[in-house]
Amino acid sequence: MLNLEKLTKRYGALTALDDVSLRIESGEFFGLLGPNGAGKSTLMSLIAGLRPADAGTLAFDGVALNADNSASRLALGLVPQNIALYQELSAEQNLRIFGQLFGLRGAGLRERVEEGLAAVQLIDRREDQVKSFSGGMQRRLNLVAALLHRPKLLLCDEPTVGVDPQSRNAIFEYLERLNREGLTVIYTTHYMEEATRLCSRIG
Ligand code: ADP
Repeated sequence: MLNLEKLTKRYGALTALDDVSLRIESGEFFGLLGPNGAGKSTLMSLIAGLRPADAGTLAFDGVALNADNSASRLALGLVPQNIALYQELSAEQNLRIFGQLFGLRGAGLRERVEEGLAAVQLIDRREDQVKSFSGGMQRRLNLVAALLHRPKLLLCDEPTVGVDPQSRNAIFEYLERLNREGLTVIYTTHYMEEATRLCSRIG
């Protein structure tokens, strides 16, 4: 599904990724395990198209990923390490905006927003501003925002940092269910126990 060949990324004099090659098959739950500073987020940002590589190639389902092919990128979902939600808006308003950015409209959008809120147990908080949410609730909403358009591949960048055990479990169970239903996941973490529980393969 995803093929990375000899990727290199430099920030000035610092080489964050050095000749990284990786193949992810459809249906995998792939763990990218490493300490802070290992280059995990950099690799995710390259796959998501947020930054260009200095060398190497990326291909998704055989199609080169570059700045021009947004069609391929619509098959990706990114759960960024930092919460990327509008704090002044409600949970429901946030999901509607993210859904619209992915091209959803009308009844289809409403349905996905409902499903998303239900999946992460936020139905009864739908009208509350995100800034009133706990860290764990924000993480759960952040996850759902990346899934509204039904990506084939989900990139999760340390999605449980600062999360209470209950929310962490809810996130794990949701990801495991989605993976059983066919979603391919790349999951970065520096927690070995998370990688052991979730991942079918670890790099
Ligand atoms: P991880 O996600 O594994 O913690 P990162 O990809 O965030 O690792 O960082 C890899 C290395 O690249 C680190 O040494 C980090 O300081 C450096 N780095 C990351 N982003 C930038 C940036 N925007 N500018 C300069 N250096 C960066």
